[in-house]
Amino acid sequence: MITIAETVAEVREQVKAWRKEGLSVGLVPTMGYLHEGHQSLIARACAENDRVVVSVFVNPTQFGPNEDLASYPRDLKHDAALCEETGAALIFHPTPEEMYPNGFCSYVDMDVLTKELCGLSRPVHFRGVCTVVSKLFHIVQPDRAYFGEKDAQQLAVIRRMVTDLNMNLQIVGCPIVREADGLAKSSRNTYLSPEERKAALVLSRSIFAGKKLAEFGETDAQKLVDTMKSIIASEPLAKIDYVKVVDLMTMQQIPKLDRPFLAAMAVYIGKTRLIDNFMMNAGGTAE
Ligand code: AMP
Repeated sequence: MITIAETVAEVREQVKAWRKEGLSVGLVPTMGYLHEGHQSLIARACAENDRVVVSVFVNPTQFGPNEDLASYPRDLKHDAALCEETGAALIFHPTPEEMYPNGFCSYVDMDVLTKELCGLSRPVHFRGVCTVVSKLFHIVQPDRAYFGEKDAQQLAVIRRMVTDLNMNLQIVGCPIVREADGLAKSSRNTYLSPEERKAALVLSRSIFAGKKLAEFGETDAQKLVDTMKSIIASEPLAKIDYVKVVDLMTMQQIPKLDRPFLAAMAVYIGKTRLIDNFMMNAGGTAE
């Protein structure tokens, strides 16, 4: 059975032993309830590192007061089986008290990139993400860490943090894994009723339509946004949080598709908030 470490000390000891043997270490941070999206990150990490640590931690500091921290799905047994079958060597599954002991009051905060998109509707979210990911980097000290393009703003934020704070590791971005019908895989898809699950397809339909428009040479960001919004608006169960086109590096809105960009959306299907996106270079080539 794969080892599940619950304390920082256990992880440090294991990593120290690997380092003594000269082995490289990859890290895949997750909140658990693992699916094929997470699995693609773990598989890539296993291909590129001698040993892989998967963290499974529903991080309280990245949830706002009215968000789904308490109801977030959890299934450690299933997660352990998936990690083991994919080739990971260790799961780090700390308690909230292990990560945030009494008296904890240090946070990693970021300007600019976190003030757009999800950062606008989730004001404490990226402070929580940057803080927990920094802690995981310090605990595991990996050579490489793996993040999904599904959370494109998170990936940009982590890359910026690693550059700004001189963190000594490589960040690897991995493509979005989708269901056969197009819906981006997400632990939160489990909240959807059968009717909502059908309605949720409007996100990927809208993303694919926007992508096609850009590939065909559209350079007006507003036209892209309007097209994507009109598709979402055709679904009565969907309510737009945002649909935006931003500079891929700065996450600031742009009028023209004249540089690498991210087209991103957050949409409520009933009570469930889902995100999707695509990234592209100027001129419609794949990012
Ligand atoms: P989460 O457990 O939702 O915090 O996600 C952990 C990591 O898995 C993040 O880097 C996500 O971007 C990535 N991830 C989640 N869903 C997908 C997906 N459908 N495709 C690729 N990566 C994903």
